[in-house]
Amino acid sequence: MATALSEKFSRLVKTMSGQARITEDNVQDMLREVRMALLEADVALPVVRDFVARVKEKALGQEVLGSLKPGQALVGIVNRELAATMGEGISDINLVAQPPAVILMAGLQGAGKTTTTAKLAKHLIEKRKKKVLTVSGDVYRPAAIEQLKTVTKQAGAEWFPSSADQKPIDIVRAAIDHARRHFFDVLLVDTAGRLAIDEVLMAEIKALHAELNPVETLFVVDAMQGQDAVNTAKAFKEALPLTGIILTKTDGDSRGGAALSVRQITGVPIKFAGTSEKIDGLEVFDAERHAGRILG
Ligand code: GDP
Repeated sequence: MATALSEKFSRLVKTMSGQARITEDNVQDMLREVRMALLEADVALPVVRDFVARVKEKALGQEVLGSLKPGQALVGIVNRELAATMGEGISDINLVAQPPAVILMAGLQGAGKTTTTAKLAKHLIEKRKKKVLTVSGDVYRPAAIEQLKTVTKQAGAEWFPSSADQKPIDIVRAAIDHARRHFFDVLLVDTAGRLAIDEVLMAEIKALHAELNPVETLFVVDAMQGQDAVNTAKAFKEALPLTGIILTKTDGDSRGGAALSVRQITGVPIKFAGTSEKIDGLEVFDAERHAGRILG
């Protein structure tokens, strides 16, 4: 994976690899490069600091200083630590619940919640052989309800109607009732998002969570969001007991540092990655591949 690293970083690796012994100064130089690479990838500063401190602790141990190829050993540590930080946890959707297993989708407007709800429905139908119902609690944007209807159809799932004159809590109660009576395995609940964190909306999604008791509460976040992803993640983590993350728009040209920030701040696994606008553009999150990309 050394080829995936920045040029300067690679040069340092080579220099260090040629040396029989390395010093603490060499390690510091390399850590500086790691830090730069992470910042360039838009990983949030506190997350970078934490990460570099963990790598340093390992790097200054016997593993690197006593190694025959210290440069390579350090690169190995960085890659492993990056992949481990982003990759720990169970990646598939938990459906262990009295049916219907409820999945609550949370995130800012534009993050990709509605699209991802349909992608997930398709995944659960095709890969897990489940009968899936979707419902939208976004009473503020009738277009969003229509959008969910359209994409749900594309996914081959069923859609439960809702409208702007209803209360979100009443909508989800009715949807659960319908799902129970018609033997759905899964109910996917799309929710309203705003362009920025909004207290009223946070209170609403908390109330929905309390009513639904979902088996999964997924935080949908745009990989292109960069530094802002940190504040969004903090706010959603404080409001809800999140169980997983779906990172959307990984097909964009960002280096995807948001993945590391969001993973570290929420403490929950990144389960899936959105890879296109299309209904089948959803993949199980590959931490190792993403680690290579972050280091650029
Ligand atoms: P919501 O407001 O959170 O429900 O977001 P939407 O589902 O409406 O998505 C907002 C925009 O992002 C739409 O144009 C989607 O097609 C697009 N989008 C969602 N996920 C992805 C993805 O993984 N890749 C790309 N390229 N576009 C995506």
